[in-house]
Amino acid sequence: MLILYLNNVSIMDPEGIVIRIKTPAGDMDSSVDSPSLLNFNDLLVAIRDVMPEATVTAFEYEDEVGDRITVRSDEELKAMLSYYFNTMNEQRMNGLMPDPLQIFPRAGKTPGIRNIHGLKVNTRPNPANDCTHAVQDTLASNSLKKSSAELKRILTNGQINAQDIHYQEQLGHGNGGTVYRAYHIIGKRVLAVKVIPLDITVELQKQIMSELEILYKCDSPYIITFFSAFFVENRISICTEFMDGGSLDVYKRIPEHVLGRIAVAVVNGLTYLWSLKILHRDVKPSNMLVNTRGQVKLCDFGVSTQLVNSIAKTYVGTNAYMAPERISGEQYGIHADVWSVGISFMELALGMFPYPQPLQLLQCIVDEDPPVLPVSQFSEKFVHFITQCMRRQPKERPAPNNLMDHSFIIQYNDGNAEVVSMWVCRCLEERRAQQAQGRV
Ligand code: ATP
Ligand code: MG
Repeated sequence: MLILYLNNVSIMDPEGIVIRIKTPAGDMDSSVDSPSLLNFNDLLVAIRDVMPEATVTAFEYEDEVGDRITVRSDEELKAMLSYYFNTMNEQRMNGLMPDPLQIFPRAGKTPGIRNIHGLKVNTRPNPANDCTHAVQDTLASNSLKKSSAELKRILTNGQINAQDIHYQEQLGHGNGGTVYRAYHIIGKRVLAVKVIPLDITVELQKQIMSELEILYKCDSPYIITFFSAFFVENRISICTEFMDGGSLDVYKRIPEHVLGRIAVAVVNGLTYLWSLKILHRDVKPSNMLVNTRGQVKLCDFGVSTQLVNSIAKTYVGTNAYMAPERISGEQYGIHADVWSVGISFMELALGMFPYPQPLQLLQCIVDEDPPVLPVSQFSEKFVHFITQCMRRQPKERPAPNNLMDHSFIIQYNDGNAEVVSMWVCRCLEERRAQQAQGRV
């Protein structure tokens, strides 16, 4: 049963959490004994109790880079708690006392002002229905963007050093590198750190570092946030934002309505990179990351030619997601990334790689007609999207603008992160349950 004490509790119940409501009059700590039973309305009632004069319809919390995330439903509350539990565990594992969960009530206007012109205003906190909210949101998000840009700038001034990082579990191993979940003690933030051994000269190390500079400028919600990179002996460590849902390659068949929202983010991310004249060059499910907040972000794009070349020297293998023109050694451009989008989404929809493996895999990609999604199982728009992306002739594939304007992308470009969030949370729960039963 949920118990909310609103009388300035300062000691945390070991089983529960402390929620700190940030009000204009000061902080109000509330102890929640069973956070898993907490629902959005209970919390809203608690906030209204401490701010009776305001019309609070939503609240916000801060993520690891200081961006404010709005909570207005049970699902969004779940995502917030999941984020907070991770942060709390990290702090505990590092011997720190967990910080309370800080929330910032978002006050609407008072009822008197709202009706001052006798207008009928929808009071639901949906920016699409409320112009004032929309304007306030834009102003708020502009100033937040500024502060998170500032934060990033500070971080690049060497604030993430090797000695401030606690390496935790290994998240995965790819061609050339190993990715760890790590904790940045000073920034109190979870990181993903990719460590790549490279036996190269100091000159080449410097070249890589300068080529990675552009990553500091990447600022898109569809691209993984880059914090820092440094060499220690013959290893480069690349520190980025940690995504608690991991990469898409470990998810089984993904339903089309979820995949549609993921595709919107991937196309947006690529369009952003292309606008900076960056080709991704390694689009594939393991380089598409998701989190419990429903965000989808691209990682591992090839900004440093020297880094790509140095890794390639130690790496023997094939990239099955490469476009036919790349496999044949021809010149390639944006359209090669578009092919990789097509084959990746076909795999995610089918739950299996669409070419026979491993037999002469690359040659069949060059020689044979590309595979087509079965029309009986998927919508016409989706089948068309994949078919267009996987045209053998690069010029016949959609260019960036045509990709954004494709009916499949338009259909799912509704900003509904909840669909992905719910699906990620459910899959993670299932995975945890299976692990607990010892089946995985
Ligand atoms: P390749 O080396 O060919 O790109 P890969 O993408 O599978 O293959 P890595 O890039 O080394 O290999 O990543 C290994 C795994 O680490 C990924 O599959 C993913 O599950 C996990 N991972 C990578 N980056 C992050 C991140 N930022 N947050 C959470 N998990 C991550
Ligand atoms: Mg990768």
